[in-house]
Amino acid sequence: MIRSVIVVGGGQAAAVAVRTLRRRGYDGSVLLVSEEHLPPYQRPPLSKEYLAGEEDWESLCLLPESWCADNDVELRLNTRVTAVRGREVEPASGARLTADALLVATGGRPRRLPGVEGERVRYLRTVADSDRLRGDLRPGARVVVVGGGFVGSEVASTARSLGAEVTVLECLPVPLQRALGPEMGGVCAALQRAGGVDLRTGVTVTGYAESGDVAAVRTGEGRVVEGDVVVVGVGMLPNVEALHGFELDDGVLVDEYCRTSVPGVYAAGDVARHHHPLFGRAVRVEHFDHASAHGMAAAKSILGQGTPYTSPHWFWSDQFGRNLQYTGHADEWDEIVVRGEVEEFDFIAFYLRKGVLQAAFAMDRGGDVAVARQLVSARAVPDPGFLRDEDADLTELL
Ligand SMILES: Cc1cc2nc3c(=O)[nH]c(=O)nc-3n(C[C@H](O)[C@H](O)[C@H](O)COP(=O)(O)OP(=O)(O)OC[C@H]3O[C@@H](n4cnc5c(N)ncnc54)[C@H](O)[C@@H]3O)c2cc1C
Repeated sequence: MIRSVIVVGGGQAAAVAVRTLRRRGYDGSVLLVSEEHLPPYQRPPLSKEYLAGEEDWESLCLLPESWCADNDVELRLNTRVTAVRGREVEPASGARLTADALLVATGGRPRRLPGVEGERVRYLRTVADSDRLRGDLRPGARVVVVGGGFVGSEVASTARSLGAEVTVLECLPVPLQRALGPEMGGVCAALQRAGGVDLRTGVTVTGYAESGDVAAVRTGEGRVVEGDVVVVGVGMLPNVEALHGFELDDGVLVDEYCRTSVPGVYAAGDVARHHHPLFGRAVRVEHFDHASAHGMAAAKSILGQGTPYTSPHWFWSDQFGRNLQYTGHADEWDEIVVRGEVEEFDFIAFYLRKGVLQAAFAMDRGGDVAVARQLVSARAVPDPGFLRDEDADLTELL
C-alpha cells in the first residue's frame, strides 16, 4: 500500500505525474522537490511564443501553487536534491526524506560547448534563460546560433520574426540531421534559408572571444563570425548525477512500467531511457508529449495500475511559419516516400524499413501525422504508391 510519494524534479513529467496521482484517487502524501524557484511549467514556448513576447508566464504554468494547496501537494521549490539512494532523498538543505515510492523526473540541462562562455553567450532551458534572451532579440541585432537542432532552429525563427539578423552555425551537412536524416534535414535547411537565415553547415566552432559589445565565434576554417549575442543549442544532458546505485546509460534505465533498477523508484521524461516494446530497444527522447505521457504512466505504475508504455512518440516544432511534426523512431530506413510538395513546405515523408513504416515527418500536415502515428503503432506495411498518392485516403490503411 503506497501512502507517501516523493517526486524529484519539477518539470512536465513531474507535474503530470502529480496530477495523475490525485486524479486517480490517491490520497496519501505527495511532495515535489524542485531546484527551480518556479512551480512546474511548459518549456516549448520558451523558444517560440514566450520568447517572442506573445505569451505570459501564467499560460506556461502546469501546477499552480493554488492547485497544489487545494490538492494537498507539498511543493518544495529552490531545493536541489544532491543524492538519491534507494528510496531516500537528500536535499541540499534540510533533513533526508524517504517515501514509499519515488519518481525521478529531473529532465536535463543544456550541453555546454567548451570555451564558449561569457557575458554574451546564452543557453536556453528555463524561463529565466528565455527572459534574458528576449532582451537581446531587437530589430537589427546580430544573433549567432550555434547548433541547428530544434532549439537552435526555433530560436533562429523567433529571432528573425523579431527583426534580428541571424547566422546559424551547424557542424553537420544539414540542420536537424540527427533527428530527421540528411534528406529531410535538407528540406529544413531550405526552410531556414527561405526565412532569411544565413545558415552555414559543416562548420565547427573552435573558439570564442568577447571584446566590448562584440561576441566573436571562431570556426574550424579559421573564420570569425561576429554577433551581439551567441545562442548555443547543442543538445541536452540528462540530470542523473544525484542518482546512486541505479543502472545508468545515457539517462536512467527504466522498463516499460517506468521502473528503475532500484525497487520502489520510478523515472519518467527526458531523464529516463525506457525500454520500448514497439521499437524493441531502450530509447531516450526529449519531447513534451512523451514527458507528459511517461509521467502519467509512472504515476499509474506507482499506484499498481500500470500498463506497458508503448507510445510511438510524437513531437512538434514551429519554425518560420510552418508546423513541423514527427512520429515514430527511425534510426535506419531504406526508403523515404513523400506525399505532397517539399518545395512548398507542405508534405509528409514516410520512413520505411523493409517495407515497415518506422516514422513520419511532416510540414503543415498534422492530420496526416495523426494517422501515421497509428500506422507506426500497428507496424503497418503500407504500399509506397498509396502513400505517395495525394488522392488516396490514408485512413483506409488503418
Ligand atoms: C526551449 C525548449 C523548447 C522545446 N520545444 C519543444 C517542442 O516544440 N516540442 C516538443 O515536443 N518538445 C519540446 N521541448 C522539450 C520538452 O520541453 C521536454 O521534453 C520536457 O520539458 C521534458 O520534461 P521533463 O519533466 O522530463 O524534464 P524538465 O522539463 O527538464 O524538468 C526537470 C525538472 O527537474 C529539476 N531538477 C533537475 N535536477 C534536479 C535535482 N537534482 N533536484 C531538484 N530538481 C531537479 C529541473 O530544474 C527541472 O525543473 C523543448 C524544450 C526546450 C528547452
